[in-house]
Amino acid sequence: MSASPLPDPTLEITRPFFEGAARRELRIPRCRACGVLVWYPRPRCPACDADALAWNTLSGRGTVFSFAVVRRALWKPFADRVPYATGLVALEEDRDVRLVTTFVHCSPEELAIDQPVRAVFEPLRFGDGPEVVVPLFAPLA
Ligand SMILES: [Zn+2]
Repeated sequence: MSASPLPDPTLEITRPFFEGAARRELRIPRCRACGVLVWYPRPRCPACDADALAWNTLSGRGTVFSFAVVRRALWKPFADRVPYATGLVALEEDRDVRLVTTFVHCSPEELAIDQPVRAVFEPLRFGDGPEVVVPLFAPLA
């Protein structure tokens, strides 16, 4: 088992998400049968059970749905990041679709519920482990 806290970007079910992130695109699957965005990625649509999902590139914009401020790292690789805010972003295309994220390019005190944010794409690496580009969210300038 890897000591890296990063996701495995080669898993088939999520690979298009990470391939999009590497190109600075926020990609989420949408059901071709009923049109809903499906998050987290899974083989079948939770609304209509169709298995026809297609990856779509979204705007990358959303709003802060919730957040919490981490002031003490419970895991050593995060020790140099505190304080930071983690939380949920409601996507512009569907506010019921919420991504777990870390907020960046701001101090936690600058965040507020419903604040507009945008995806920014940053390579993450811990120690000499692998690097993965992930979407994080920053206040909309
Ligand atoms: Zn569907």
